[in-house]
Formats: sequence, structure tokens, C-alpha cells
Amino acid sequence: MATQNAEPRIEETIPATMRAVVYRGINDLRLETVPVPEIGPGELLVRIATCGVCGTDLKKIHLGSHSAPRIFGHEMAGTIVDVGEGVTSFAIGERVMVFHHIPCGHCYYCRKQTFAQCSTYKKVGATAGFEPSGGGFSEYIRVMDWIVAMGGVVRIPDGVPFEQAAFMEPVNTVLKAVKLLNLAEDETVLVIGQGPIGIMLAALSRRSGACVLTSDLYPERHAIAAKFGLHEPIDAADVVERAHAVTEGRGADVVMVAVGGTKLIPTAMAAVRPGGKVMLFAQTQHEEATFDPGAVCMDEKTLLGSYSASTAIQPEVEELVLGGYRRGFDLTQLISHRFPLEEAVQAIEVASNPKADSMKIMIEAAPGAGAERGGERWQAR
Ligand SMILES: [Zn+2]
Ligand SMILES: [Zn+2]
Repeated sequence: MATQNAEPRIEETIPATMRAVVYRGINDLRLETVPVPEIGPGELLVRIATCGVCGTDLKKIHLGSHSAPRIFGHEMAGTIVDVGEGVTSFAIGERVMVFHHIPCGHCYYCRKQTFAQCSTYKKVGATAGFEPSGGGFSEYIRVMDWIVAMGGVVRIPDGVPFEQAAFMEPVNTVLKAVKLLNLAEDETVLVIGQGPIGIMLAALSRRSGACVLTSDLYPERHAIAAKFGLHEPIDAADVVERAHAVTEGRGADVVMVAVGGTKLIPTAMAAVRPGGKVMLFAQTQHEEATFDPGAVCMDEKTLLGSYSASTAIQPEVEELVLGGYRRGFDLTQLISHRFPLEEAVQAIEVASNPKADSMKIMIEAAPGAGAERGGERWQAR
């Protein structure tokens, strides 16, 4: 689309087709050639540099919770290559991170700051084609008008790599959960699970001054957690005992569950003190679970959850992720694998079968998006 602006711009030729990972049904992902999406008034076309693989992408792929075909991927960063009519706040060539959900800002749920329940928020505003589903596992995405207008597109400052910016969405979801807990300096927090999300929950909890214990099965993950200042590792088998040992027998003030499924909920309830809180962060499926109602009523243990991002805390998230990068808050240390888009099916495979050494997995539509970081070599895995 031609822009109204008269000043010269370096416009790149946008191809008619692109490569994308198309979800064709349960556990059926295919690398296909699809049309590059067209944009309308108020919209943007963004060339994807990199996109993180999220646990929720895997859940959709494995459970078939959504109709096919779709192109998933929502932890994305890239470069604006076209702007729709009427867009004045963004220009071609700008490096950006894109949110795929943005709330309306004025409905009942938004007024109560429970943005993830807003009906506008539930609509997906970024697509690489088919039913909008993020689209980050492709080369180009169309960013819809309300995402552009309502703060869903964030400029990446010079010197901050695309990969760091791609963590903005998960960091927002994590910070939102941590804020709900109102942590205090004299408290003890236990984070169960030290995948990328567990490490981020623990690292952001530490900012309150609380003592943060982290548990995982793998020593490799504790080693990565240590890079984020987390020096109280616990072996997964000793969680309940250690949580009591370091709190004069009370149990942790807060336990966060960063491992999916229901198996660890009783462990978390046993590790938290009377009157403490258990935050379910990775329980993104509707299913039945067992817990002791007496622990909630008589022992006054609170079970709570947090899901998705909050626009209300976005300025703080930007300061943390974009400003923080220069101060050493380097989230790219959580990345264990980088795959080119052509090998995205393998990337999902690796992400779906986590091993001790697999942490955040990135799919790079532009190979070398990771190399931007201080000359580190891009590694095909
Ligand atoms: Zn995500
Ligand atoms: Zn709303």
C-alpha cells in the first residue's frame, strides 16, 4: 500500500507468498507456502525476525483445542514493512514487538482490571492467514487496527535485540501474577518448576526482597536460574520439607506452580504456610483436580490463578525488558535453541519433549535474529 507521506523511505519489496508453519489438526504441523497477508486501513505488516515457542502453543497443537487450519506463534518481534492507510504512529522500518491480544479498556472486566476476560481481549489481532492465531511462526504478520491503536505494538530501541523484545509478552504475564501476590521482604516464595516461565516468576519475585526458593528436577536448570540471581535451588523431591525447614516450620508464604497439570497442586498446598497463597500459573486446561478443602477453609490457604497479560502494567514491563537489557536483565540467557523457520516443525518437537537442557526455543524467520546480540553466532540445531 502506498503511503501518503512524501518523504523518501526505504521500502522493501514484499513477496506475494511466504513460508509458514500451518497447524492442520492435532499434532499435524506442516511447513507450507501461503499468501503474504494483506493489510487494511489502520493496520501494519510486520516481517517476523523471531518468535518464541510458548507452552500455550504446544497445548493447542497437542490437544486440538482450536479448529484447523491456523498459524500459531505469538511471542514475536520484527520490522514494520508496510503501514495501512491512516496509520501515523508507526513507520516502515521500525523494529517492533507485537501483542496478539489487547483489551477494549472500558468494559466491566477491563474496569476491574481482569483484562484476560474482556471479549475484545479474547479476539486475536495478529495473523499470518486463516483464523487469526498470532501468526508468529511465519515470515509476515498482519497486525489489526485495534492492536495498532490500543498500544499492542511496542517499538524496540536500538541496542535491544529482537529476541529480548520477544520476551515482553511472557514477562508481562509473569509480572502480572507476581504483583497479585503483594510479596513482602520478610516472606519466603517457592517457585515449583524452573523452565523459562518458572525462572522469570522467581526472578521477578526476588525484586520484592523476598527469599526465593526454586525447585526443579534438573541441575542444568538451576544453573541457568543462578544467572538470574536465584541461589536457593531445591531438588524437586524435597520441596515440602525444605519449604518448612527455612521458615521455622511454617511453610512458604507463597508457592507458585510453573509446571502444567494437576500433579503438583497438592505438593504446593502442602508446602505453603497456613494463611499463605498458592498461585496456579501453568494450569491452562480445564480439568478436575484434588485439593483439601479444609486447607482452604480452616488453614486459610488461598488458591489463586493468573492468566495472560495486563495492559495496565505494560509501561513497567517495557522498562524492565527494554531498559533492563542494558542493566543486565538479559532474558536471551533463557534461550536454549534457535531454529530457522524451515525447521520449525522440529523446533515444536523439541519444545514438546523438554529435556534438562531445553529452555526457551525460538523460531527465526530471519536466521541471524539471535546473532544480532553482540556477534554471537547463530546456531542451527
Ligand atoms: Zn505465550
Ligand atoms: Zn474490555
